[in-house]
Amino acid sequence: MKQKGSFGPAVNGLGHTAEHAGPKDGINRVSPKKENVMKDEVSTVNYDRAEALLRSIIKYWIVQLMDYGGTCPVTTAECVLDKEPALCKAIGKERVLALCKELHRAENISQSEWYQARFHQFNNQYFGGTLPDYRVHAVYDITVWAPGDCDEFPRSDIDHAAHEIYLSMTHCVGFREMDELLIHFMAHVATGTSTDEDFAWHLEMERLRQFGAPVDASPDNQSIVHAKLPNTLKN
Ligand SMILES: [Zn+2]
Repeated sequence: MKQKGSFGPAVNGLGHTAEHAGPKDGINRVSPKKENVMKDEVSTVNYDRAEALLRSIIKYWIVQLMDYGGTCPVTTAECVLDKEPALCKAIGKERVLALCKELHRAENISQSEWYQARFHQFNNQYFGGTLPDYRVHAVYDITVWAPGDCDEFPRSDIDHAAHEIYLSMTHCVGFREMDELLIHFMAHVATGTSTDEDFAWHLEMERLRQFGAPVDASPDNQSIVHAKLPNTLKN
């Protein structure tokens, strides 16, 4: 939220001065001949700047709204239109909705890389490097990737057929909890299981716990309700 303070000047008419000419001496120096050209440039910059800011803001709100009950592109757009009217006016409602549709399908590449590295490290540390390679995706809207009616938090799932693990982007838990979630799925990989009712999975989780892996001490907290993958992805 820290960056919010910089949004106002960029879109409320002060943006021109702030971005191009310093806080006090900008627009008065522009000659009348150049004024029209400058206005065109300013409107272009403001559009691009507004869209760039909105891309970040929309991602923020998708995660917030997903954390607090779920959202869809239309709901996210309504939220952003309400929270950021000036930025949205700069690019238009239709573009805001198009951005929401695009970003609901987005993956956070840097977070995916982080958890891909953790998968590799945990594989060597706790599984002797024996697990097959799975791609780990940190995604904004997991219902796009693993559609289902699961409302449990945090949403996440595994697709054995495609060798992929999906983790929801979230603001509610820290690295330790996300490591526990990743280990949870790696135990599924090790045992070839997809549900938490399987005894083999429980045995593997106990082995990991005793081995010092990031596993919650309480078996009740180790289980999650998986999002439901469509059958076409499962088999
Ligand atoms: Zn599970």
